[in-house]
Amino acid sequence: MSVSKERTVSLWMETEVAPEAPPLRADDRADVVVVGSGIAGLSTAYELAVRGQDVVVLDRGPIGMGMTSRTTAHLTSICDDSFDSYISLRGLEAAKLFHQTHSEAVNRIEAVQREESIPCNFRRLDGFLFPAIGSDPSVLTKELEAVRRIGVAVEGVRGVPFKGQDKTRCLRYPDQATFHPLRYLRGLTRALLARNARLYADTVVESVEEDEGGVTVLTEGGNAVRALAAVIATNSPINDRVAIHTKQAPYRTYAMGLHHPARRNARWSLLGYARRLSLRPPPAGPRHDRLPDRRRRRP
Ligand SMILES: Cc1cc2nc3c(=O)[nH]c(=O)nc-3n(C[C@H](O)[C@H](O)[C@H](O)COP(=O)(O)OP(=O)(O)OC[C@H]3O[C@@H](n4cnc5c(N)ncnc54)[C@H](O)[C@@H]3O)c2cc1C
Repeated sequence: MSVSKERTVSLWMETEVAPEAPPLRADDRADVVVVGSGIAGLSTAYELAVRGQDVVVLDRGPIGMGMTSRTTAHLTSICDDSFDSYISLRGLEAAKLFHQTHSEAVNRIEAVQREESIPCNFRRLDGFLFPAIGSDPSVLTKELEAVRRIGVAVEGVRGVPFKGQDKTRCLRYPDQATFHPLRYLRGLTRALLARNARLYADTVVESVEEDEGGVTVLTEGGNAVRALAAVIATNSPINDRVAIHTKQAPYRTYAMGLHHPARRNARWSLLGYARRLSLRPPPAGPRHDRLPDRRRRRP
């Protein structure tokens, strides 16, 4: 099922990315076929199209309405699971590479939204990492040491701007960013269409078959896209049912959107991905002082 059909909605979802995109109703050909139209798929399609490749994008739901439409929109070079644990698991060089690639990805989004004149509220801001209530404060010390080892600009400071938290130790990471993800994706789709890419919505890909001449992507509706190469950008892979799926665990993350008059920093807590809290100014437009849909699902 496409996550666009879930009952709850996010702050971003009032923006339609490409409502005019039709389903695939006949066979098509391209240099590259991209399966999945989240930020990974559309960014890949865009990079290919600007280099002169003929691109087709397929999505089983509406364009851009996968998990990207439900994120908290942090654009960060910092590792969600902490660099301390990353270094323990993968080593210092891999951690440096992680940070470098993520910094460059954020820089690339900044450049693309500028070059393509995409009005997506992109802005740079500080990120704050602070210990959640009851967590071990030494975690923050270890993380400060870890990020300094890989050369990340970070500052240990005091004061989280929540009631009673003015003396709380935290780490400040300058030069992180945020944006409106679906406005950004809408801009990418326009840039793609201007370069003759084809976007097909409501088109479930069932299989990807490789042969010497390229790939054939077959859809549930019985149509095919023939291409020299395929990019699978479906978040959870559909082409490899073992290597990644056996390492994945399902869990649910909740994010709340609340109106706050003047908070301009990204914040996240050490309690972990599932309990991260982020405050950001609302995008220009209608106020969001409550969630548009108050229905909740049980975890
Ligand atoms: C609550 C929450 C908050 C998050 N916050 C952040 C954050 O602040 N910063 C961050 O970097 N990350 C965040 N993430 C992680 C985030 O989801 C990913 O970083 C990013 O959105 C994944 O993009 P994607 O393009 O890979 O996947 P998606 O946006 O999920 O796109 C995949 C697309 O593939 C399509 N698809 C799947 N199967 C098929 C098929 N068989 N045929 C055709 N199409 C198919 C789907 O319909 C979907 O549109 C958050 C996640 C959650 C749940």
